[in-house]
Amino acid sequence: MRKPFVAGNWKMNTDSYTSVNLAKDLASGTLEVASESITLAVCPPFVYLQAVAKALSASNIAVGAQDMYFEPKGAFTGEISTSMLKDVGCAYALCGHSERRHVIGETDELINKKVAAAIAGGILPILCVGELLAEREDSQTEDVVTRHVKCGLAELNAEKVSAVTIAYEPVWAIGTGLTATPQQAQEVHDFIRKLLAEMYDGQLAGEIRILYGGSVKPGNTAELMAQQDIDGLLVGGASLKADDFLAIIQAAAQKT
Ligand code: PEP
Repeated sequence: MRKPFVAGNWKMNTDSYTSVNLAKDLASGTLEVASESITLAVCPPFVYLQAVAKALSASNIAVGAQDMYFEPKGAFTGEISTSMLKDVGCAYALCGHSERRHVIGETDELINKKVAAAIAGGILPILCVGELLAEREDSQTEDVVTRHVKCGLAELNAEKVSAVTIAYEPVWAIGTGLTATPQQAQEVHDFIRKLLAEMYDGQLAGEIRILYGGSVKPGNTAELMAQQDIDGLLVGGASLKADDFLAIIQAAAQKT
């Protein structure tokens, strides 16, 4: 049984005051949510990671970074290593979020190096994959997702891949208010799980958590989570409102 996993991606939002306040509201709002029933994480901007980790230290909510670099240290101006992330209490890192792929221009090769470095450095990567609207309309969804998964996990053996969470995020549904229907999401999640079974084995494929992301709200959480292969949610906009994110967490934790 895969434990539900809900992660919030705060993107380039909040400030030193609102990030800590949001974290405190989430910590108090999840006091009754058992860590056995759900895995929880939030990904604040780098500069607030340490303060947010402190505010969440007595809670079941882990902290993740929105990105990381693959080199351990040195002359890489502006970049952040896995050991720096661990040093400030970070457990997860998003790798290959669509905004980094399509706005910043990250390639599959770079994302693969980040996933590998995260695992080697003791950070749990959340590998984001998903197609653009034009790619879906051109029936390329499976090809794009196959490329993102195969390239993102290239050269990684099954033991290493067991540390990875995959987030399927159709780009046309991110921040647009358009959500994939539960059936559209389930189809792709099922496809990814079968792909993992081909690449590794059925047992590993059955254990890896595949999250859905794209305009998740309290009102669509239950029907998304009711799908067999949707193991959790990566939430952007709605994770910035404590009440909405808590409602999403409560609904996702009901999955049995
Ligand atoms: C995201 O940032 O990964 C995301 C899914 O954003 P939103 O929920 O706002 O669509």
